Amino acid sequence: MKIIAFLLFITFGLHAQSDQLDILSYQLDMSIPLDHQGLEYPQNTLTAIARIEISPMQATSSVSLLLHRLLNVTKAYDEKGNPYKITQSLVRIEGWETFQLNHITLTFSKQATVGDVVTFVLEYQGHVSGYQETGMLYVQESLDPKFTIIRPESFSYPQLMEPSEESMSKRWRSDDKFTQQVQLTLPSTHCAATGYTLKAKTSVGTQVKWHYESPAPAAAIVMPIAPYHVIEKGSYSVYYFEDDEDGAQRIIVGIGEVFDLYARWMGPLLTQPKFVLAEIPDMYGSQVVMPTIIQTAPSFRSPESMGELYHEIAHFWNARDTDLKSPRWNEGQSMFLQYLAYDELNERGTFVPSLTKRLERMKNYFKSHTEQISISEYGKKGVTSSLSYGIGPLFFYVLCEVMGKEKLLAAMGEFYRQFEKSGAGIDDLPKFLIKKDKKVKSVIDDWYYGTRYIELIKNANTVSELAAAYKVSIEKDD
Ligand SMILES: [Zn+2]
Repeated sequence: MKIIAFLLFITFGLHAQSDQLDILSYQLDMSIPLDHQGLEYPQNTLTAIARIEISPMQATSSVSLLLHRLLNVTKAYDEKGNPYKITQSLVRIEGWETFQLNHITLTFSKQATVGDVVTFVLEYQGHVSGYQETGMLYVQESLDPKFTIIRPESFSYPQLMEPSEESMSKRWRSDDKFTQQVQLTLPSTHCAATGYTLKAKTSVGTQVKWHYESPAPAAAIVMPIAPYHVIEKGSYSVYYFEDDEDGAQRIIVGIGEVFDLYARWMGPLLTQPKFVLAEIPDMYGSQVVMPTIIQTAPSFRSPESMGELYHEIAHFWNARDTDLKSPRWNEGQSMFLQYLAYDELNERGTFVPSLTKRLERMKNYFKSHTEQISISEYGKKGVTSSLSYGIGPLFFYVLCEVMGKEKLLAAMGEFYRQFEKSGAGIDDLPKFLIKKDKKVKSVIDDWYYGTRYIELIKNANTVSELAAAYKVSIEKDD
């Protein structure tokens, strides 16, 4: 009996993990009427159809998807309209217990093998609310007429994942990119701020249906929606809230200036980026998901926040990370460039004081955190959000003092151009920098692969003291 059950299982019950499914295309057709205003907006609902085309990399007869806990699948069928067997239930994510999602399993009538193309269409509807209880404090969106956003973190569209933290992070960090068609039906007062190509725009009663296509395959769908105003300028546009026109004008100028500055420092980008910069409410989390940059309101409201914009634009000069648990040294690089650009474009003499603030914060951090972690281990130890942004800029500052600013900036640009296609792993940057200038080896040994930097930070009163140790040894070497 046991053998028969086992054979039945392998014949009919094969389930490939989601990272063994290549997503080919994703069509999302969503209607968000947003007709309840004010306190009533939590009652707003969306209705949507997701049509997903996948190709399995190993045989499978079912797929697993996750959707917002308040969204319910009403129908699931193939491209000919034949229904799939579907189960859905509310689950806690394994390894991320505060995350509750609707877990959907679709079972095919016959097993799909490698190279097959399987299409499934899911009709679903319901509410969306934030996911702050998961620790992602910035995921606050609901179907609020003032602002809402479709993005992976709030699961307003189904994603191919198993209900585990591991599977989610694999999918989110994977480079399985797919072509996207996104159709949004919105009130005529609203629009999406997206860098996607507009294919069609049609009126449907009091609503407008927008049809977008991703200019290149992408791994996530990010669509901020609001009664936006827009300024267009050549290859980029800025979408902003009604009250923030002055800020939007300042940002349009600032983007041009900082692009020129970075190109002068690091050399050209491989492709001229076309993108949209969209204002989102404060504390909703700035992000770059090309061709859309979402930027929180404070950077539209105070000129001092221009640094945040410089930070995001600095990421254009990053090669893709190939490691799942990357140390995210490029956040340190962006912080460093942000301070340098702000000093150049906005206020002279702010570079060192900005770094000094980081130094002070990190000195405090190490008073209560005694673990010794090298930069290369930040991803593996899960400390990127506290340390990549804090230690990273100090590391690049020391490199800058040792190599010289011009040489370091040119090396950053060259590194990006060399690794843009292949992506860069944990050891690629240190190897590259040492090849450029062997003087940085001791800095890399102490900071990137070692933990001597912690002692240096604890003992330093000024940032220049961080670099002084290396300058002495360089003079001796020379
Ligand atoms: Zn960043």
